[in-house]
Amino acid sequence: MTLVIEGAYVVPVAGEEIPDGHVVIEGDRIAAVGPGAYEGGGERIDGRGCVVTPGLVNTHHHLYQWATQGLAKDGTLFEWLVASYPVWARMDAEVVHGAATAGLGWLALSGCTTSTDHHYVFPSGRGDLFAAEVEAARRVGLRFHPCRGSMDRGESQGGLPPDEVVESIDAILAHTEEVIAAYHDPSYSSMLRVAVAPCSPFSVSRELMTASAELARARGVRLHTHLAETLDEEEHCREQFGVTPVEYLDDLGWLGPDVWLAHCVHLREKDVARFAATGTGTAHCPSSNARLGAGIARASELLRAGAPIGLGVDGAASAEMTPLVGEVRMAMLMQRARYGPAALTAREALAMATAGGARCLGRQDELGTLEPGRLADIAVWRVDGYHAAIDDPVVALVYGSPPPLARLLVGGATVVEDGELRTIDGGTPARAGAEAHRRLLRQAAEPG
Ligand SMILES: [Zn+2]
Repeated sequence: MTLVIEGAYVVPVAGEEIPDGHVVIEGDRIAAVGPGAYEGGGERIDGRGCVVTPGLVNTHHHLYQWATQGLAKDGTLFEWLVASYPVWARMDAEVVHGAATAGLGWLALSGCTTSTDHHYVFPSGRGDLFAAEVEAARRVGLRFHPCRGSMDRGESQGGLPPDEVVESIDAILAHTEEVIAAYHDPSYSSMLRVAVAPCSPFSVSRELMTASAELARARGVRLHTHLAETLDEEEHCREQFGVTPVEYLDDLGWLGPDVWLAHCVHLREKDVARFAATGTGTAHCPSSNARLGAGIARASELLRAGAPIGLGVDGAASAEMTPLVGEVRMAMLMQRARYGPAALTAREALAMATAGGARCLGRQDELGTLEPGRLADIAVWRVDGYHAAIDDPVVALVYGSPPPLARLLVGGATVVEDGELRTIDGGTPARAGAEAHRRLLRQAAEPG
């Protein structure tokens, strides 16, 4: 089947922008991108008054946190975590399914076509949490990169989380092997790839960090973790390991082009150079970093140095209801707040959210740009309403309130049309999210 978007302002991210152009889609791939009308046949999408971009890639999330939004509203990361862990300990597969459905539906409505998820709390006897989020992603229709997260260092071992939410190394590695075998699809147009993701230096043992890297590299999957998010974490690393968080990861042999790290707020100049030299990626989550008062990451320095960098909304409990397209704006504004108005342009921020995110996930040859042969993951934004007083469509998209989403395609299939989900009944994700929240709080209030 041929689908043609015509009459639109096309922003391919790779290559020149086309003020009145077309994008031709054959099956799940982009077949052509060019100026003017398309001569061939095919079903038409009227792109007049719209700007067309690659679909956005979300490089960091915790979908289950939809169920615990608004907790520890004014806490630091560690205070927020300590308040949240006991509630998370009571989640089950039903909570995860509802929260993931809401979180992924919300992402789709903000232009996201590919999302990761970092799930690291697996209370025993509460159903198949990993399968629950995979099923939610299939329903919503987004390309999905779930990370099998993990924590094995509870309070009794000097870690931050209570012992009741951590697992044994053996259980973690066995289940990680299992989900890679069951779900990971390395093919070009893959809708699902699994990554290995121990949670953070303050909740994971050195042994698990090393074993996770060995497992991921043996199976050819990617590696992810949180790093250098707050000064509390740096203090913890210095006390327990005698080094900074980046030095710790480097000592463990983690850094490399198959790795992307969430946050990286507190980097030294030599860390920026090291990330660029090793091809280590960063998932920059500006709203979450601001919400928790963690700081402003050196995102534009990483970009200038040539290190891979993408954007992420982070979990909904530390960046409530954050739309992914809003992170493009937030990234641009926060870099300017720290470094001045030339620090990051709207186009550079958009490139971070698309091509940069694809590179973090190792999919730069498949996703993140509008080029013939790439997967047809495309966002069509309507900029002819209130946004029409801004002549530059990229400025209209990034600077202020996000414009309406006219169409979202994942592999050429419509997921959003005229601001409404088409893969799933429009009211379902919001209801599922609210029910997951109520169910989890009810379970958390039960004794024992
Ligand atoms: Zn996170």
